[in-house]
Amino acid sequence: MFTREEALAEAIKCSGCGFCLSVCPVYEAVGIETLSSRGRVDTLRGVLLGQLELSERMMQILDTCLLCRACEEVCPPGVKLHRVLMEGRAKAVRQRGLPWAKRLAFRRLLKDRRYLSRALGYLRPLLKEDRGIPGSKIRHLPSLFSGIAGGRGLPPIASRPLRARVGPVTAPVGNPRGRVGFFSGCYMEFVETGMGDATVGVLSQEGFEVFYPREQTCCGAPALYSGDVEDALEIALKNARAFLSQKLDSVIVGCATCFDCLKKGYSSLSSSLQGEEKEMLEEFSSMVEESSSFLVKKGLSRRRRLSSPNLVTYHDPCHLSRGGAIVREPRELLASIEGLELKEMSQPRRCCGGGGSFGLAHPEISIEIGRWKVQDIQATGAKIAVTSCPGCILQIQEVARREGAEIKAVHLMELLHGAL
Ligand code: SF4
Ligand code: SF4
Repeated sequence: MFTREEALAEAIKCSGCGFCLSVCPVYEAVGIETLSSRGRVDTLRGVLLGQLELSERMMQILDTCLLCRACEEVCPPGVKLHRVLMEGRAKAVRQRGLPWAKRLAFRRLLKDRRYLSRALGYLRPLLKEDRGIPGSKIRHLPSLFSGIAGGRGLPPIASRPLRARVGPVTAPVGNPRGRVGFFSGCYMEFVETGMGDATVGVLSQEGFEVFYPREQTCCGAPALYSGDVEDALEIALKNARAFLSQKLDSVIVGCATCFDCLKKGYSSLSSSLQGEEKEMLEEFSSMVEESSSFLVKKGLSRRRRLSSPNLVTYHDPCHLSRGGAIVREPRELLASIEGLELKEMSQPRRCCGGGGSFGLAHPEISIEIGRWKVQDIQATGAKIAVTSCPGCILQIQEVARREGAEIKAVHLMELLHGAL
């Protein structure tokens, strides 16, 4: 990961110009300077230098960043805030340890799909159906957790995980064009399994044999972005082994956060390894490709058309547009669908406020940021918001439900799959 020296080098670059204040969604929502990029860099510099204690206030400064990296784009000296944040969080884990819930999740549930599957099986009957909106897919957490999470809704946990329906190998349709691995991620595996069906389906329709190894587990982003480098490394090596057991052209990911973690996160994690393990992690990370960018590189072999013309808008997940510079590719795929009209939002790249577990840890800030996104979607007149991240879909649907907005959020692969 990033060393203290690397993080400090970023922190001392800040000139205090304040450009970042105008783009930070958290600062806009709460109006507190220490929760902007400038404020965070200022205070965390002191923590990294050992001049300031890791107090509760510092923990709040560390925890309330979405890691959306909007601030990095506008920063004249190019401060990489995420490096400062990540080292600050890693230091907090080293000094204070992890809260019990994260310890349980990172050390047990995320490392083995069998444990997570069992835990979700217990949770599933506890989720209460939303009676307010007919046909709503949203469920509510049991009241104890709901209180903690600000009454946020959750989508239903699938009655059968994706792997119970999609086999370890899916044959290509038509002329074979290659062999790829499929990294499912937790949402597609256990929650929105239809997105997983669609991703495997599109790859197969496009002539790729799809290998879906059962040994894969969570990408480890929750552990990595919480500063738990040790568990993130263990998870990374497990995933690398699961895919490198086969000869593959690429490993395809349909979740923006998983993609960022497998590509950039694993690559920086590998710097703390040596020898065979380091090579293995680097090789795996170099094979990872995001689904839309992979398909554009290869070129679509089939024409797609909507059954009836439709207006859609596209939301750029932060982990794709800023993490991976993938902005053009999803739009190219949308433009290739006959009967589809794309109307851009005023700020399609603005964060939706989901931020993985940020939405559960800071529900008020998350919903406030999401509200802006939903209004921007509504202003386009489109009833469908397409994106490439299950986490963003969950956030947009949840905020739209609260706002009474008639918007459906769908994954780009679902749209492509259904348009053949
Ligand atoms: S990464 Fe995003 S949330 Fe964090 S300080 Fe920068 S702009 Fe604000
Ligand atoms: S834009 Fe960059 S240099 Fe300016 S205050 Fe923000 S972090 Fe510091």
